[in-house]
Amino acid sequence: MTEYVKIFDTTLRDGEQSPGFSLTTPQKVAMAIQLAKLGVDVIEAGFPAASPEDFAAVQRIAQEVRSPVIAGLARAVAADIDQCWEAIKDAEKPRIHTFLSPSDIHLEGPSLLRRAQAISKAVAMVARAKSYTPDVEFSPMDATRADWYYVCEILEAVIDAGATTVNIADTTGFAQPDEFGMMITYIREHVIDINQATLSVHCHNDLGLAVANSLAAIKAGARQVECCVNGIGERAGNAALEELVMALTVRRDHHQVEDGINLEELVPTSAMLQQFTGVLVQPNKAIVGANAFAHERGMLKDAQTYELAFSAAGTRNVLGRDAGQHALRTRLEELGLLLSQEELNHAFAGFKSLADVTNEVTDEDLKRLAQKGRRAAEGVFDAIGHVYR
Ligand SMILES: [Zn+2]
Repeated sequence: MTEYVKIFDTTLRDGEQSPGFSLTTPQKVAMAIQLAKLGVDVIEAGFPAASPEDFAAVQRIAQEVRSPVIAGLARAVAADIDQCWEAIKDAEKPRIHTFLSPSDIHLEGPSLLRRAQAISKAVAMVARAKSYTPDVEFSPMDATRADWYYVCEILEAVIDAGATTVNIADTTGFAQPDEFGMMITYIREHVIDINQATLSVHCHNDLGLAVANSLAAIKAGARQVECCVNGIGERAGNAALEELVMALTVRRDHHQVEDGINLEELVPTSAMLQQFTGVLVQPNKAIVGANAFAHERGMLKDAQTYELAFSAAGTRNVLGRDAGQHALRTRLEELGLLLSQEELNHAFAGFKSLADVTNEVTDEDLKRLAQKGRRAAEGVFDAIGHVYR
């Protein structure tokens, strides 16, 4: 039987807390609704203790978004956990995700004593979270730079205290794929009762390896991956959800796991985030960039056609000559191209001229028209390439 990997989306927590990516509460709610449509298993909606605004956004998502688990992040301190529960308690499936931060541990004294203190704190806080909800996730901070034996000790203790997910964070993006896979194998071999919990990973992209590390972890038995739409997040970001999911899909023969993602929602989800944050992905960004293959219509519809994914990348979709401006805008949005009204006017004029001479305006043509529309709006060219001034 094929095993299932949970997709844990932290766009609204790890992604949103990084500079340049902040969202308003209504935008967060809209994004969470879209993530539910995308089919993620868990939405980490925020860090309720961080600010009253964070609290309010998490609470609204917990109240309004159904189907995925709604998780709130909390440091391993009683006040954070209590506040987190207040924010998520209306969710259909609430999860408290608690983590031990280095600042919570006394750094003086012999290391054995520090370790014992950290473990007892983690155990107490997991038990506290467990008194609110059966679904509790625990992350030891910066696990990949800690000693593996110690990580196993702490995981064993928190699973015993009731943690149902244990998450290995590569907080600084330090791990290498083969090494990270070995760490996951080590944990699976050394933690008693590891099968009582879902083993999760949270990879950062400082060396451009977040997706590779996550895939290596899945190969080694991790069954939840934490990721962000468009790979946003602290510094170089988190593992990109769309890249992970497409790797798992296109190479299902290799990874041999399933997930619950609706592939046709990948591009609209990416486009929504770009629109809300104003931060566009580069055109050559894997999967969702304007030049990338995921934009070819229909190709993503059926996961079983993954072999077609590459061969279909050369296929063409067409927009008919009588298409109106609305149809053009819709198709451009599906391609991840978000144009201002002025840019769209230019692109539409270009579309009409082109449609006059050819029956088929392809997606490739549309991408060029959109680029030209943008340049035309800057006053450089009109949309069919004539110099304005
Ligand atoms: Zn992170």
